[in-house]
Amino acid sequence: MKLTKYIIIALILGLGTGIGFNLFAPEAFVYVDNYFFSPLGTLFINSIMMLVVPLVLFSIILGTAGVSDPKKLGRIGGKTVGFYLTTTAIALIIGLSLAYIIQPGAGGGFETQTADYEAEEAPPIMDTILNIIPDNPIQAMADGEMLQIIAFAVLIGFALSRLGDKTSGVLKLVEQGNDIMMFLVRIVMYLAPFGAFALIASAIGELGMSALQAMLLYMAAVIGALLIHTVVTYGSVLKFIAKRNPIQFVRTFIPAMAVAFSASSSSAALPISMRVAQEDLKISKPVSSFVQPLGSTINMDGTAIMQAVATVFIAQVYAVNLSFGDLLTVILTATLASIGTAGVPGVGMIMLAMVLTSVGLPVEGIALVLGVDRILDMLRTAVNITGDATCAAMVSEMEENREESEAEASEAS
Ligand code: ASP
Repeated sequence: MKLTKYIIIALILGLGTGIGFNLFAPEAFVYVDNYFFSPLGTLFINSIMMLVVPLVLFSIILGTAGVSDPKKLGRIGGKTVGFYLTTTAIALIIGLSLAYIIQPGAGGGFETQTADYEAEEAPPIMDTILNIIPDNPIQAMADGEMLQIIAFAVLIGFALSRLGDKTSGVLKLVEQGNDIMMFLVRIVMYLAPFGAFALIASAIGELGMSALQAMLLYMAAVIGALLIHTVVTYGSVLKFIAKRNPIQFVRTFIPAMAVAFSASSSSAALPISMRVAQEDLKISKPVSSFVQPLGSTINMDGTAIMQAVATVFIAQVYAVNLSFGDLLTVILTATLASIGTAGVPGVGMIMLAMVLTSVGLPVEGIALVLGVDRILDMLRTAVNITGDATCAAMVSEMEENREESEAEASEAS
């Protein structure tokens, strides 16, 4: 709790420092940013990223090995993927609806003539699915290919559970490896206030407030939809299915959200969000180990919301009417696009290019929203990882209930 307080103070200080530099000393900012904010931020991000691949590998092997029944694994996997796809679709519907109510692009005054944006290639969805099984697991780890690492770890875990005593030494090794990683996560967490301060000061100092003004309505629509989705969608799942107090849940989860916010990366936030989920929120370890790493790659509700609002915004600016069929295409493309893209800063823009193309809108339109994307990236990443943790809490509760009723049934018989 003390750490939460320090992180919040650091975020506020970082925000103030960034705004101060931007308004009063933009030249000095370049210098301070180069030699202080950016290096400190990079140091922090690197020290977490260093832990992501080994942590995901060890924890998923352990999670899978702990579930010796393949049926149970299938059940957890099915619920997780079902939850991720459903909440992403809900997020898109909320985003589209709010964008139609607020009409962020209808006011006019946007420069479309000079808009220029070079879209990066998005990975074709079929490739992503086929590539889930890595042809070289070491390469997959070196490249940080999350889905491939997850698939490899699940297979190793499955083998360990089948081979039992014969491989108990390897299991012990993985257990100890996992303990070492979790220990290091705890240490890195103490650096979070410093890292968060530096990252925020750097981002805000560069962006400035004037960039935000023209885009107020667009930002309001995205932020409003993020809030509605967090409070209503996650709040209801937490309260009614996971049987938890949503306010308490979010409060405990703040350190992870703050890291996601300052780093704009679900992957970077993963070690801390897993630790908070397992140690503080008491979510079952095998469930959290499986559900959260998977979510950090395939579940991005906050990003989906941005895509929905941005699509409507760009359509309004270019005076294009989207049909009902177009809106369904947006929902389908954006939901599928989120599966193949990693949780790193800015990937939302690549996904947006895919969505715009799917309904025939000009990809250059992205240039209009790019200016404020840095800020929105922070906010939506915090929402993305809250969705992953909510799913973990839900699946954990459902599994516990099931185990209890199975135990009762076997006692009775
Ligand atoms: N930064 C986001 C994440 O890591 C992805 C995005 O929206 O760009 O979850």
